[in-house]
Amino acid sequence: MFENLSERLSGVFDRLTKQGALSDEDVKTALREVRVALLEADVSLPVARDFIKTVQEKATGQAVTKSVTPGQQVVKIVHDALVDVLRGEGDPGKLKIDNPPAPILMVGLQGSGKTTTTAKLAKRMKEKDGKRVLMASLDTNRPAAMEQLAILGAQIGVDTLPIVKGENPVQIARRAKTQASLGGYDVYMLDTAGRLHIDAELIQQAADVRDVANPRETLLVVDGLTGQDAVNVATEFDDKIGVTGVVLTRMDGDGRGGAALSMRAVTGKPIRFVGIGEKMDAIETFEPERVAGRILGMGDIVSLVEKAQETIEAEQAEKMMKRMMKGQFNMNDLRMQLEQMIQMGGMQGMMGMMPGMGKMAKQVEEAGFDDKILKQQIALIQSMTKKERANPQILQASRKKRIAKGAGMEVSDLNKLMKMHRQMGDMMKKMGRMGKGGLLKQAMK
Ligand code: GDP
Repeated sequence: MFENLSERLSGVFDRLTKQGALSDEDVKTALREVRVALLEADVSLPVARDFIKTVQEKATGQAVTKSVTPGQQVVKIVHDALVDVLRGEGDPGKLKIDNPPAPILMVGLQGSGKTTTTAKLAKRMKEKDGKRVLMASLDTNRPAAMEQLAILGAQIGVDTLPIVKGENPVQIARRAKTQASLGGYDVYMLDTAGRLHIDAELIQQAADVRDVANPRETLLVVDGLTGQDAVNVATEFDDKIGVTGVVLTRMDGDGRGGAALSMRAVTGKPIRFVGIGEKMDAIETFEPERVAGRILGMGDIVSLVEKAQETIEAEQAEKMMKRMMKGQFNMNDLRMQLEQMIQMGGMQGMMGMMPGMGKMAKQVEEAGFDDKILKQQIALIQSMTKKERANPQILQASRKKRIAKGAGMEVSDLNKLMKMHRQMGDMMKKMGRMGKGGLLKQAMK
């Protein structure tokens, strides 16, 4: 449906093959296309305009990295600027849930995914943070919504406050608070009523509940597919109730994430989580890089420029070695190693150079290991999110499937890569322990 920005730009930049600094004209031509892409991704006009202005100032006169075209360079600059706008302060995934029982207020329009998100977050806090969570539905107008939360609670093994007919939302909130204190819960979540549109009564109700509960977090759930509307909703809720963060749902759909950018730019509120499906695990901490990539629809170019700029400097290498010797060898390190291996004449060439590894080089040769495999492995690592690269231990079945698919390979290939990663990590650690005269330490001198 959308013409990819990279396709759009390639036409423009085929003509601009010269290297050197980005000229005014280059930048302007590129940004015209970027602007259209932003608008197509549902970014609001004033936000797009402001954004383009900032990027224009940043990009003009910037040196073009060798081996990429000016167009590619502009896209990288745009990408980084998007990430800058999207990134809030602090860790988006860290909810304020100390001082039990910590109240969390969930607000949003009906159908935004509020109840589903309440349950997803409860499950996450239970499993990730080991918290005891109590959920309460305050939607007295819609008994079905209360039932829905109870059903989800049973499904994920999180308690819900028993439904008492005839109570108003404030009374339910009070009961939830008492129950949470008496029952020794760490967190209680208040799933407020939704309406199809914002109205005075809805806002008043949420405000009354807020005053009783004094929430540590007030999370606004908005449908990421609704674009500009989502921004208006966010502005209204924030003005009237005050929110501490936004959860964008349906980011698994066709929406291109422009709402996220407008939302950040207009409300200044951090986006904390994104919903990526109907299942109870389908929620992720918000990652600005991914959404920026999605808005631009051109992750490939961004990583190309990154790679071109990624001249592995001595300082970086030293840092990596230090981390590796402590046993902190992650997928970024492995990728760097794989890339170096290719540069240094492939895996066998490299192993042959390392003392004590001749035997392994031979095994590698026998296993038919060649640069094609190295490249495939790099593709697998590229298909991981930043977080997955940093913590490969979080890779469970669904992530593995996604990664393998993204790289056009099988989960078994990814498992092989992970095994190699583990083995290399162990080996590095061992080498690190070889004392002052250890191989790696010597290499660092
Ligand atoms: P509420 O009225 O705001 O409480 O909305 P619900 O939680 O009942 O969600 C409405 C519908 O959206 C349900 O069918 C959910 O399964 C679905 N939904 C919620 N979050 C997501 C999401 O992140 N992705 C997708 N695809 N569907 C979602």
